Amino acid sequence: MNRLHFLKLLSVSPFLSSMTNLNEFYTAAKGFKNTEKMPVLFLGHGSPMNAIEENEFVLGFRNIAKDLPKPNAILCVSAHWFTKGTKITAMETPRTIHDFGGFPQALFDVQYPAQGSPELAKMTKEIVSPTLIDLDENWGLDHGAWSVIKHLYPEANIPVVQLSIDYTKSARQHFELSQQLQNLRNKGILIIGSGNIVHNLRLVDFANINKVDYGFDWAIEARQKINDFILDGNFEELIAYEKQSKAFQLAIPTPDHYLPLIYTLGLKQNNENIRLFNDKLLAGSLSMTSLKIE
Ligand code: ZN
Repeated sequence: MNRLHFLKLLSVSPFLSSMTNLNEFYTAAKGFKNTEKMPVLFLGHGSPMNAIEENEFVLGFRNIAKDLPKPNAILCVSAHWFTKGTKITAMETPRTIHDFGGFPQALFDVQYPAQGSPELAKMTKEIVSPTLIDLDENWGLDHGAWSVIKHLYPEANIPVVQLSIDYTKSARQHFELSQQLQNLRNKGILIIGSGNIVHNLRLVDFANINKVDYGFDWAIEARQKINDFILDGNFEELIAYEKQSKAFQLAIPTPDHYLPLIYTLGLKQNNENIRLFNDKLLAGSLSMTSLKIE
């Protein structure tokens, strides 16, 4: 059937709207070759200083990148883009956003000049329903994305888009939205959640800001329980994080750094494994725990 015939058929089809969506998906997806299923990452990003420091966590990011198939593009869900409604960056050249204060000039001087991918933005919009995703031209790459992706791809040669976290949605809704992104993995899209599983900035021990393997009792408990739930595949307990113990409430005082984990877990298939790395507490109230699904 040629394209014209197909479009004519569509115009009289009772399934017009879903078929049109499907057609738009195939049109948008044309730019991306089919690939083996890409792994999925969750990266504990910690301090923005990790962008310019050398430490064991940075080495962990570089190490994990060594075994990744080369992606066609990256879709990143960053803790630092928390919006009303779901948005996706759709510009050709996203700016590097320095969304922090009180750090050395060297950090503000960092640019991460990866291209965007309007094609990936459109493709993502088409495969997700009923959530409406806004194509965004204003954001760019915040430090939740570039401070870690720069260690995976220092040459900035892989296009990056960011998907925002809608703060009006529940953890379950985020989990279900993420499940709809599954097909992107077969188009060579590397999906990355970037946050921190244990993240309480108010309680950080700033006198020991770089002290590794150092966590308060509640942080030790929360990290252990969360890791156990992750490795046991007990995602229901993680989605219901607000109903867990006091340790969880201290580890997740606000959902922004935790929900990127939920996006990552939503993409795990039954036949896949999860491997933790950078799995250490830091400065009393942070965990750098990161993971790879493959
Ligand atoms: Zn952060």
